Amino acid sequence: MVGLEIRGRIERDWPMSKLTAWRVGGPATFAVWPADEEELALVLRHGRASGLRTLVLGRGSNVLAPDGGWEGIVLMTTGLRQTIWREDGVSAGAGCTLPALAQEAARRSLSGLEFACGIPGTLGGAVVMNAGAYGGDMSGLVLRARLFTEEGGFRECSGAELGFSYRRSALQAGGRFVTGAVLRLRAREEALIRRDMDTWQTRRRQSQPLGVASAGSVFRNPPGDFAGRLIEMAGWKGRRAGGAEISARNANFIINSGGATAADIRELIAAVREDVERRFHIRLETEIKIL
Ligand SMILES: Cc1cc2nc3c(=O)[nH]c(=O)nc-3n(C[C@H](O)[C@H](O)[C@H](O)COP(=O)(O)OP(=O)(O)OC[C@H]3O[C@@H](n4cnc5c(N)ncnc54)[C@H](O)[C@@H]3O)c2cc1C
Repeated sequence: MVGLEIRGRIERDWPMSKLTAWRVGGPATFAVWPADEEELALVLRHGRASGLRTLVLGRGSNVLAPDGGWEGIVLMTTGLRQTIWREDGVSAGAGCTLPALAQEAARRSLSGLEFACGIPGTLGGAVVMNAGAYGGDMSGLVLRARLFTEEGGFRECSGAELGFSYRRSALQAGGRFVTGAVLRLRAREEALIRRDMDTWQTRRRQSQPLGVASAGSVFRNPPGDFAGRLIEMAGWKGRRAGGAEISARNANFIINSGGATAADIRELIAAVREDVERRFHIRLETEIKIL
């Protein structure tokens, strides 16, 4: 990072356990928080020119970082937080969090983000993951995304070009980074928006272990079934590997109950997958990104 001057923050040998919701992961050679998208582009170009691998993260709420850390740059988008609100939506930076956008949309009587009020990620991460809950997902909202491409330039892309499907987008192939997106929202009475948000949040509190380190659902739901149901039927609730534990509240969550390593979590993932496949002949695929 010699010669790189930015307004944002740069740290050396920064633990990825501080950058991810699971609170695991060894040191990144550099952790960088650009202040805006121009700085993000500068860091990505700098990394490329210096032969450093760059990993872009939002809130790290859907990733498992390796115990050995990341040799290269981990670039956090949380500084990209500008928003322009309109009557029919919002143009927002990749680092805005979904709960903050959902709350502000409600205040402005704009509907669409109700499902997202409890998803603890950034807009950028949510577009990449096609995050969703309770029947809604990002594919239904994204009008356009602003991308920085590996070739080194900015590009606007329509929602249709992003190849959305269940918890997937074409952006997961890598090489393109989201710096912002335009979401299409519609007018609705604030009280009705808040009523739905309260319903989803209550349901989340009842069905998910909140306030503990996790990365949300570990496995994608197989067609016509629920990963959590299969894991629970196989008797995995509460079972552990080191500091990692299958949540007793929701079997599709693995929680870090203190001092878990990425190896502990991987061990549980592998064991659960093998057992579910043996019992039910269904091979579970991970939803989380194993770095
Ligand atoms: C308690 C809890 C509950 C959750 N509930 C849900 C839920 O209901 N529904 C759901 O879908 N998910 C849920 N999640 C998972 C997670 O919050 C979402 O997938 C979220 O969208 C990830 O956003 P993030 O910013 O944290 O992404 P990260 O975890 O930082 O990154 C995810 C992936 O996207 C890439 N990425 C991130 N930002 C960018 C960018 N700007 N450009 C290019 N690539 C990028 C990363 O490299 C990584 O591969 C939950 C997680 C937790 C911890």
